[in-house]
Amino acid sequence: MVKRQRIEINGIVQGVGFRPFVFNLARKLKISGFVRNTSQGVYIEAQASEDTLQFFIRALQKEKPPLAEIISLRQTEISPNGDRDFRIVSSTDSSLAETLIAPDMAICDDCLRELRDPSDRRYRYPFINCTNCGPRFTIIRKIPYDRPNTSMAAFTMCAQCRSEYENPVDRRFHAQPNACPQCGPHVWLEAPGRKKISAAKNEAFQETIRALLHGRIVAIKGLGGFHLAADATNEQAVQRLRLRKNREEKPLAIMVPDVESVRHLCILSHKEQSLLTSAQRPIILLRQKKGNPIARAVAPGNRRLGIMLPYTPLHYILFDLLQEHLPENGFPALVMTSANRSEEPIVISNEEARSRLADIADFLLLHNRDILVRTDDSVIAQFKDQTVFFRRSRGYVPRPVFLANSGPSVLAVGGQLKNTVCLTKGNRAFLSQHIGDLENVRAYDFFEKTIEHLQNILRIHPRAVICDLHPQYFSTQWAKAQNHLPIIQVQHHHAHLAAVLAEWQWDDPVIGLILDGTGYGYDGTVWGGEVLIGDFTEVRRVAYFEPMPLPGGEAAIKQPWRTGLAYLYRTFGKDLPALPFLQAKPVQTILTMIDNKLNCPLTSSCGRLFDAAAVISGGRETIHYEAQAAIELMQAVGDQSLPPPYEVRAAVPQIPLKPIIRALTEEALKGISFDRLAGRFHQTLIHLFAETVQHISEISGIKTVALSGGVFQNEILLLGVLQALQRRGFRVLTHRRVPPNDGGISLGQAAIGQRLLKQGQAEVHFA
Ligand SMILES: [Zn+2]
Ligand SMILES: [Zn+2]
Ligand SMILES: [Zn+2]
Repeated sequence: MVKRQRIEINGIVQGVGFRPFVFNLARKLKISGFVRNTSQGVYIEAQASEDTLQFFIRALQKEKPPLAEIISLRQTEISPNGDRDFRIVSSTDSSLAETLIAPDMAICDDCLRELRDPSDRRYRYPFINCTNCGPRFTIIRKIPYDRPNTSMAAFTMCAQCRSEYENPVDRRFHAQPNACPQCGPHVWLEAPGRKKISAAKNEAFQETIRALLHGRIVAIKGLGGFHLAADATNEQAVQRLRLRKNREEKPLAIMVPDVESVRHLCILSHKEQSLLTSAQRPIILLRQKKGNPIARAVAPGNRRLGIMLPYTPLHYILFDLLQEHLPENGFPALVMTSANRSEEPIVISNEEARSRLADIADFLLLHNRDILVRTDDSVIAQFKDQTVFFRRSRGYVPRPVFLANSGPSVLAVGGQLKNTVCLTKGNRAFLSQHIGDLENVRAYDFFEKTIEHLQNILRIHPRAVICDLHPQYFSTQWAKAQNHLPIIQVQHHHAHLAAVLAEWQWDDPVIGLILDGTGYGYDGTVWGGEVLIGDFTEVRRVAYFEPMPLPGGEAAIKQPWRTGLAYLYRTFGKDLPALPFLQAKPVQTILTMIDNKLNCPLTSSCGRLFDAAAVISGGRETIHYEAQAAIELMQAVGDQSLPPPYEVRAAVPQIPLKPIIRALTEEALKGISFDRLAGRFHQTLIHLFAETVQHISEISGIKTVALSGGVFQNEILLLGVLQALQRRGFRVLTHRRVPPNDGGISLGQAAIGQRLLKQGQAEVHFA
């Protein structure tokens, strides 16, 4: 018997080849009816036998195009009619507002094959794409996602491209950025201050390769911004890049052509390989093999290398040519680091590149498809079975995180460093791309633009603004200036905790172990080594590191020797141990500052404890990038099995630090190696946290623990704490989709704000 069903599909189903997929599937199964886009997603009416319809529904979910994501599928029985064939019906609704925009995706296998086929009309054409791949988020000016609303509006499709675009069975049916060498964007090479130096087809690429192989620095316009490229095997070239970019030691990301090349440089697990080759193409932090050909200056003193594979057709053309021109024994690897000056946002326009990169890059490889939305590369590390986001940006944004419940729309504006913002609509939380450090004027400007743009393309009108407690964060100040909306302020570490809970759609109270650098506490001191009990609406500070003075505040963060000295002073008093790092330091000045409480905020920060432990153990006295001392302390542990912990007893609410400092100092004075001290320090913390959580669990009866905070980017600590807690029978929630660092707190803020509004509360209940 013939049946007819109405099928409503919600999710990422527009601009990803979903309608042609439905059309072809329906034709194959001899189903009649139609498919059309709606403001909610995709609407299908399908008529066939019951069995066929069931098969159809299963196939819709199983065989959907690679970029599509189905969030809900609703079926309703309706009366059959006389339909005989299946059609794609054009949408009459102009307000396609509810649909989700897809992130930018790496070139697909079909397009890559055409790109490399000399007989194809798009052979080596750097803007080849189809409905399964290519730019999305970065070229959208406004919605609906149609060509006139993208940066492709400037190009008129030729007859051939148009026929692909209009043919429902073509891979390029309604591929908005569809283009070819006849009608689409093109590439050229410039030298700063000079006109185009090559424009002929592929000559720009040849010139670029020649320059790179001669040690030159080339700014390359990519998908979400410019990269600065240099030969990653050329020590001088990489050092020159560091000098010009004013970036002393922070590791630089590299790009290599394929998985085999990656294996040559790094150890690659199955999971790492699948992340590396995914359509999101993030940078993966991989363990380096010894003696690899990459210049030391790429990641000085670092055990890991940040590597990504090519993701645009332009990258593939570059690497195909690079391999053709590589000298014997050469290795194809390019530094591909965000093109910016120190902490500024990544450069996206040709004009910006000409002015801001003129004294960094020797050449600019430009094109005329505008990047409208700045989006940095995403960065991920895989620690055993834990996927840890360091930065969630290109490829993932604007895909939402789904919350357990719907609620009023809110705008959360994040923290100060590694800022992201987050908007909610229904049960979806949209995190922005990485914005950066708001202290930078250009980053602040980008922050304001991102809020506006996201509200526009997502059609969200927030009912409240959620921000941090810190009065000096620029995001807090921005929130306070929004007079037309109510504000909810959320404590920094509560936001970290809520970010994990939001990811897990977890509603019950948990013990939150939040290990972090800096966050403003309810008592006005600097928090960061916190054990909380709480959920979205209530939170209690049950334990924290014994507060220590931070001589000079911010200055101490850049100069761990100050922190080390303060922790020693608190532990030993005037009877300071004769550790080498104290020599030739203005010790007395610092002690006077501490005694007189002059610019010495108190902190329970775990990040600062790492700094102090590092310098006491013989590590770094001053740093060149964030958390460098802590990272080096962790890397010193290496593959050694961890030595036993120091004898330190857990206590609440103040977790004692002096015994750890005392034990480390005594061993350092005995001349125990940095590596060994690093191992014992980590093991001591793991043990101490497990004991503390156990103790709190016995009092509270809570058996679930959530881990968050920037310190959980530390592999040894993350895996150690996780195992220690699991061994004791705890359920442990860790971040899987957003960073444990401050890039994730806007999600936590948003989840808290949405819940409070829904319950008619105006603030978090804090005990
Ligand atoms: Zn494609
Ligand atoms: Zn064309
Ligand atoms: Zn934080």
